[in-house]
Amino acid sequence: MQPTLDAAPAAPALDTLRHVFGYPAFRGQQQAIVEHVANGGDALVLMPTGGGKSLCYQIPSLLREGCGIVVSPLIALMQDQVSALKLLGVRAAFLNSTLELEHVSVIERELLEGELDMLYVAPERLMTPRFQQLLGQARIALFAIDEAHCVSQWGHDFRPEYIQLSVLHERFPNIPRVALTATADNATRAEIIERLQLQHAEVFLSSFDRPNIRYTVVEKDNPRKQLLRFIRSTHEGDSGIVYCLSRKKVEETAKWLRGEGLNAYPYHAGLDAETRATHQNKFIRGDGVIMVATVAFGMGIDKPDVRFVAHLDLPKSLEAYYQETGRAGRDSLPSNAWMAYGLQDLVLQREMIEQSQAPDEVKRVERQKLDALLGYCEAPACRREVLLRYFGETSSPCGNCDMCLTPPQTWDASVAAQQALSTIYRSGQRYGAGHLIDILQGRETPKVVERGHQHLTTFGIGKAVSDVQWSSLLRQMVAQGLIGVNEHGGLLLLEPCRPILRGEAEFMARKVREATPGGATSVRKEIEFESDEARALWAALRQCRRKLAEENNVPAYIVFGDATLKQMLERRPASLAEMSELSGVGDKKLERYGEEFLEVLKGHARQYG
Ligand code: ADP
Ligand code: ZN
Repeated sequence: MQPTLDAAPAAPALDTLRHVFGYPAFRGQQQAIVEHVANGGDALVLMPTGGGKSLCYQIPSLLREGCGIVVSPLIALMQDQVSALKLLGVRAAFLNSTLELEHVSVIERELLEGELDMLYVAPERLMTPRFQQLLGQARIALFAIDEAHCVSQWGHDFRPEYIQLSVLHERFPNIPRVALTATADNATRAEIIERLQLQHAEVFLSSFDRPNIRYTVVEKDNPRKQLLRFIRSTHEGDSGIVYCLSRKKVEETAKWLRGEGLNAYPYHAGLDAETRATHQNKFIRGDGVIMVATVAFGMGIDKPDVRFVAHLDLPKSLEAYYQETGRAGRDSLPSNAWMAYGLQDLVLQREMIEQSQAPDEVKRVERQKLDALLGYCEAPACRREVLLRYFGETSSPCGNCDMCLTPPQTWDASVAAQQALSTIYRSGQRYGAGHLIDILQGRETPKVVERGHQHLTTFGIGKAVSDVQWSSLLRQMVAQGLIGVNEHGGLLLLEPCRPILRGEAEFMARKVREATPGGATSVRKEIEFESDEARALWAALRQCRRKLAEENNVPAYIVFGDATLKQMLERRPASLAEMSELSGVGDKKLERYGEEFLEVLKGHARQYG
């Protein structure tokens, strides 16, 4: 089967990209990296999640003589990576602690006899004397060190075995090494270079922007309902991740979503290993599964068709937020990063920092990180600019975040701010937002009466402003350092608030969009169907993919990604030759699945013809 991609012979790298992987062109710096490594150079690749790092070592492994050795810490995911490569006709295998002994010796023999293009190994296995001896006897194309930031002792993913990987350079000085990571900061980068002895490696640094991800932050009002509305209006039937802070909330949210008829499962460190594995598997293999999880979930999950990541609680830092949201849309199709955020979150995070036993120096750093995160949540303009600036990149307004799409209205909140400050002061600077708002609204709650707060001069003076606007206003004042939060969540005055309290300075605030509390109008659907006919074809194509995935016992996206199915929907190929032109359809997949999908397309054309 010779696909009819192009007449002139392409360069070997491009040829492999087209025929094996079925992609028409390299992305970003992929080509430069592939050529550099294929020619024997060392490389450090810094690329965001979804940037396409895998091809940077997979293609050189195929181009060079011998087997590419891929070091990866994510044992659970090796199997899927290897299955995906096998479907492309690549001779790939993996070695980790899950394999039977017999199976291990088969793979070792294949390696020695030159029958493997690529071998994935866990770092602890790589360093064993047995494997080192094997490496000495086999022909090696290159070493790829995936998730290279695991070598950093300061990161949260530190793996002691990674430190020893420098041995590779000492033992095999002539074999190229490529280290890859999505962690961008300078300290980690320097540490990778030093520990892996990559001083002579060429560094390939990509932009960390993820243009296909739309960022939205909504005011927390009724978070579950907001989440449900967000999912219903924009992500019906899609795969997504919902992050919560606590295990309890994970359980409750998953249960609630299931009750609403959604295909949601919980995931957190308190579940036993088997349940966790089952739920993770459902998510990876299934089509349209929602994972409700603590941050224990996600590292190394390379499911490309996660259409949304929702945060019901504040993440730990902007770095964490970027990592977590980065799990959406690796296939470059439109995706959403959605977060519901409220004053209570802020108070909780502040309390956690202040009450922890950590040394002052650590607390200081944590406070700074929280402030950076607040700067993002309270951003008066483009969120992407804030995010990228934090990672040292400059950009212009993106047009694909809530702030760009519906710029916020501001209002002169000078008087309201003064009323709030005065209420905080008169009630003794120790009450939380809820109680303060009750006073401002003039509600005689038991707590108000018990403390005698109905007699304060500010009792009931804030009725013209709604509860939602009050809590937003208080939050903005906290974010701007006018109000502080004590370790019990009580609000207190800070020095910079004086001019406002005295009525000498004005305070402009952002208005909450009360009309669309779910933020639903500002997020778009992944695929807009032009007609019922298109919708029916999409369902049929997905159905065919699901069937083939089950037959081959692989995740659905490994058969064909959404991007490829979308092209089938748009271009309606009528022959194998036309099918081969779609992105993601390589020679082997064309041979294996081409006919079945053509049948679906033909059957559909007959029905709607
Ligand atoms: P990373 O490891 O950097 O997170 P991957 O290597 O998993 O990213 O690639 C992300 C997605 O992009 C995958 O679905 C992959 O098949 C796809 N992809 C990578 N390179 C290309 C390309 N040149 N053309 C089309 N799709 C690509
Ligand atoms: Zn923007």
